[in-house]
Amino acid sequence: MKPAPFQYHAPTTVAETLDLLAQYADDDGRVLAGGQSLVPTMAFRLARPKHLVDINAVPELNRLVVENGRLCIGAGVRHAAFEKPVEDGPIGRLLATVVRHIAHGPIRARGTFCGSIAHADPASEWCAVAMGLNAEMVAESKASGTRIIQGREFFEGIMTTALRGEELLREVRLPILPKGTYAGFAEYSRRAGDYAIAMAVSTYRLRNGVMTDVHVAVGGAEAAPRRIPEAERALIGRQPNPATFQAAGNAAGKAVDPLDDPSISAKYRHGVVRAVVSRALENAST
Ligand SMILES: Cc1cc2nc3c(=O)[nH]c(=O)nc-3n(C[C@H](O)[C@H](O)[C@H](O)COP(=O)(O)OP(=O)(O)OC[C@H]3O[C@@H](n4cnc5c(N)ncnc54)[C@H](O)[C@@H]3O)c2cc1C
Repeated sequence: MKPAPFQYHAPTTVAETLDLLAQYADDDGRVLAGGQSLVPTMAFRLARPKHLVDINAVPELNRLVVENGRLCIGAGVRHAAFEKPVEDGPIGRLLATVVRHIAHGPIRARGTFCGSIAHADPASEWCAVAMGLNAEMVAESKASGTRIIQGREFFEGIMTTALRGEELLREVRLPILPKGTYAGFAEYSRRAGDYAIAMAVSTYRLRNGVMTDVHVAVGGAEAAPRRIPEAERALIGRQPNPATFQAAGNAAGKAVDPLDDPSISAKYRHGVVRAVVSRALENAST
């Protein structure tokens, strides 16, 4: 099918983008970033935006820099930018590991990091990373200026976020992981490139041989990605070893309230969460 008719706008600056969003958001206007989620839904007529504000010709949005201890990822940065480590430390290696699980090469070449965050598919790898690393989302609009939103306030449910219609998700900031941080990722999907049934991101540091600064986040299993405090408590103050990782996996499996659908039951997802959490911890390296 072809999309329903729409008016196309191609701003070249952020100021122009915000003007267009202020003008058209209430008339079903939407940002067009990589188009890898929006365009298919338009083709199926599940989405019928009247206005598309294409941000691909806005050079200011292509920034990918480390600033004040954070990796700043602009709205124009593609998934493929992370295929080689963007930073010489644990975060660069973690992102390069995670990106290989997102779809396929052509989709990674067009789709954007911020587009995934704004779209908030429960099975998005970047959304799980954002929660696991305590990301800040930087939203901007003509009416309200800049608003910084923390992950737990940002992801509200399946494809639902705290972003307002007229807001551009201008960038996402990920705290740089200190040297010596162990970071790991694991996901399970039926075929390579498919959306995940569940995934986990874990980070921790070692102090006197025991785990500290522990983060465990799960994505794909529930309506929105989140940290799992029960799993984190099972790790803090303990030595990293397979039995402890398994205990954290079991705690996460018990703590989640998974999605249940005709092809994948909640019971099955409980088991997958147990496995991906312990694997993310086993895979963690500095
Ligand atoms: C076959 C296939 C397989 C895929 N597999 C995976 C996968 O395994 N994992 C995964 O995570 N994704 C997967 N995707 C989705 C892909 O990663 C998309 O690139 C991503 O979800 C959206 O990014 P985009 O830049 O393409 O956004 P778009 O499609 O352009 O936009 C998506 C939505 O976000 C909004 N939006 C985008 N950017 C902004 C912004 N800066 N500010 C405000 N709103 C914004 C748009 O208005 C729209 O509502 C897959 C897609 C396809 C077609």
